[in-house]
Amino acid sequence: MSRTLFRGVNVWDGTGAPAFPADVLIDGERIHTVARQTGQLQAAGADVIEAAGKTLMPGMVEGHAHITFINAPRPTDLGDTPPEEHTLIAARNARILLDSGFTGAYSAASAKLRIDVVIRNAIEAGELPGPRLKACGPEITVTGGLGDERRAHQFRDSFAVVADGPVEILKYARLCIREGVDSIKLNVSGDDYTRAGSLPRTVMSEEEIRAGVMAAHDYNRMVNAHCRSAESVKRAVRCGVDVIYHCEHADEEALDLLESVKDRVFVGPAIGLLHAAVYEAPEGTIPAGFARGYGLGLEAAGRAYREMKKRGIRVVTGGDYGFARTPQGQNARDIEHFVNHLGYSPSEALVCATRYGTELMGIEAGLVKESMLADLLLVDGDPVADISILQNADRLLGIFKGGVAHKLNRNRLERQARAAE
Ligand SMILES: [Zn+2]
Repeated sequence: MSRTLFRGVNVWDGTGAPAFPADVLIDGERIHTVARQTGQLQAAGADVIEAAGKTLMPGMVEGHAHITFINAPRPTDLGDTPPEEHTLIAARNARILLDSGFTGAYSAASAKLRIDVVIRNAIEAGELPGPRLKACGPEITVTGGLGDERRAHQFRDSFAVVADGPVEILKYARLCIREGVDSIKLNVSGDDYTRAGSLPRTVMSEEEIRAGVMAAHDYNRMVNAHCRSAESVKRAVRCGVDVIYHCEHADEEALDLLESVKDRVFVGPAIGLLHAAVYEAPEGTIPAGFARGYGLGLEAAGRAYREMKKRGIRVVTGGDYGFARTPQGQNARDIEHFVNHLGYSPSEALVCATRYGTELMGIEAGLVKESMLADLLLVDGDPVADISILQNADRLLGIFKGGVAHKLNRNRLERQARAAE
């Protein structure tokens, strides 16, 4: 078993408490000792990393990952991509996530049935570099729902699979589970950023949602739901969904329902896509109705998530990276969006990006604490003082997963240590 000793680091431990100086010993895949008395640890045979002044923190978790998204603008671009190419792209995206400091990724859906599953298996077998991955199936949608790109005269595939009625949904959910997913995805509301900026509609019935939940829970799998409208959030909570994404139009009743299940349910805004649409889309590239819908969504998220934070609802960062305006690898921008749009402090946003992410994944990481998995980042600088440094891979001097260095920039560490002498 390999041992690594980080000497003189500032530990931001994932609880939200201020960072403190410590020496940290990793033994095998877990954290062995966090010693606040520096210079005392005996670590015979350990690889010693002199990292005075650097921040050691838990690895980030992408809470709404789509490793099968190909940085393209249209949903049909995903349907048009053949499975062979698509799998290679997903493998590359998994590596990009880990290179960007994400040691965990909870998939919010896979554009094709088995891609998440095979990438997860290859990562676990040590055949591909990537974060710990929870695999999902394709988005299950109803006729006319989000992701149904078919026309009466023409079949078009997207990221979704169309299933109508409880029987079809039950059957497709069971198929996903048979093929190895950790969770299924239900599109309960639409996006509806069209038609003069109408608010998102709720299109999946409670009977249909319950069928998906029953299948998943029978096999001890999770259920994720796409819910922008208030009504869709209420249906999802009432039907036992585990992870409820977006939720920006949640009203008082929806917020009360979310609060009533806060020990069990996770929420994630996937705010990056709204931010990019409102602030970064070149003039004239978004039709007026869409633009109005995005603007309303971003405003509504600012209200809903401030309220969720007050109520102690666990919110995870990330979401919908892999579109043209939100390319893969920019996922850490979400932490800054939490601060700028949703009223979180940098430290609170970091807790969402680390500890809550690992709680969602059900893994023993997300805290720099004895006996936790050593999924860690060694950062050049203080992310609480400047959250944006996590977006710069160059500032990530070390990326460790299960105690193994995926990246360790020894040259820079040694140069900086010599310069400090
Ligand atoms: Zn998504």
